[in-house]
Amino acid sequence: MPYDHERASRIGHVQTALSPAIIEAMERWQTPSLEVGDPTHIKDRITSLESLVMDERPNPTFAIAFDGSNQEVEARPGYPSVRVGYIQIAGVYVDIFKFLGANNSGLVDSRQLERAQITQTVNSVLPGANVFLNGITGRDSWRAEFDRSFAESEITDFGKAFSLTDALMTIHGKPGAPASSLTLSKCPTCGAPDQRVTASGGVCAIPECMEKIYPTDVLRGYEEFTEDGENALTLTRAMNIAERLLLISYIDGFYRVEPRMLSQGIFITDGPLAVYGPAAPMKSKFLDYWSQLCLAMDQRDFAPPLLVGIEKSGRFVDHARVIDRHIPNGHVMMLDTPYVNRYVTNQKPDHYYGKDEFYGRRFIYKTSTGESLVVTVPRVPGGHPYEKPRIDSSGDFIQVPSEQYQFYPTLRATLETLDLMQTHLYPNAVIPVALAHSASSLPLGTGRSVLTLLAQRSLGMPQDSVALSRFKPPRNRQVGR
Ligand SMILES: [Zn+2]
Repeated sequence: MPYDHERASRIGHVQTALSPAIIEAMERWQTPSLEVGDPTHIKDRITSLESLVMDERPNPTFAIAFDGSNQEVEARPGYPSVRVGYIQIAGVYVDIFKFLGANNSGLVDSRQLERAQITQTVNSVLPGANVFLNGITGRDSWRAEFDRSFAESEITDFGKAFSLTDALMTIHGKPGAPASSLTLSKCPTCGAPDQRVTASGGVCAIPECMEKIYPTDVLRGYEEFTEDGENALTLTRAMNIAERLLLISYIDGFYRVEPRMLSQGIFITDGPLAVYGPAAPMKSKFLDYWSQLCLAMDQRDFAPPLLVGIEKSGRFVDHARVIDRHIPNGHVMMLDTPYVNRYVTNQKPDHYYGKDEFYGRRFIYKTSTGESLVVTVPRVPGGHPYEKPRIDSSGDFIQVPSEQYQFYPTLRATLETLDLMQTHLYPNAVIPVALAHSASSLPLGTGRSVLTLLAQRSLGMPQDSVALSRFKPPRNRQVGR
């Protein structure tokens, strides 16, 4: 996902805004406030990091951050336009001791940092509009290729190859034990409910249908696929779930091979610990996996790993910026649901925010050097991070368990670790995330034509006149395709 300053300018077509109809509408509408009047409602919700109870755990020795980028290119413009989607996700391992050694002057030595990190990238290519496998529809071609890309994207860091499909089966099973099959809520072809499918696929059990089904159909990405036009959203959703499953691949790898090490890691994902769109029901699977992991670790007397999502953009990051000067350095803010409904999302007071998507809860943290981080952190030992607001007979809110710090015993260690790894390379970012961002970035600008040419060449199409030889392939270690 892009950093804030990578966005295109918002002040484009200024002339349009001069139309009387637009001016009149703008006077009717309200937008989020950019000023905070009386900041009491903020001050009441902030706590110094030092006052939070810390669970017993070893100091983190490593961080692994995940990020991804995606790009849809038009291999043949015009009608019918032929489109191909690319996804690149990366996990970057950073040795915290080596990193801090590199960082003791307050400046980051890039060669030291290079030595402290290991990068793993996973690439996929997905069909877009008007690209077909032999004899099947565009939508079914997308399903088949999406499934193939998950099965072929694998890591070997823990011995035996472990694919994104294995990670998908694992969140349907339990730590160290992938489920042997999972249930699709419906067959993508005939819509029949509750179809069971194994990691290698299957067929619909309805005799009149018997069409092929895939484990990745559980993510329901095909529901948003369009046969004609752009599939940017479908591609972004596929990338987001791949990032989260790559993270599970690493957590589960440590759990299987060396669970003690898991307690010493911080796992950082780009964006909130949440799943959006048709795949949102997966949040329950991530929640189940996490609570079983906490339990299994506790039985061995190990602390759970640190798991955190960091947001680089969006309405909560914008909100954090607005209230920034009212939060002192080294303080964390509890974003309880009444606050979120009233000040961030403009919803009714009893609106159940976060019900369907989240497996972690959001906090705003102001670092020791005054940067604002918007993070999501899971409950320990599991449980829903958001609950329906409770209101007593006099109309006051009752604090629900998910809004109490005691249910987030990893929060303090997480924020202290992020504080150590801040960077000024990007605003409100930490080093491992910035590294994962650059490792996962697909070539933009002129480089975009590399992807276009690749698509044209592999589809046997006439190629654009830019010489392919001008570009060198990226020098990443690649896994999968
Ligand atoms: Zn069917």
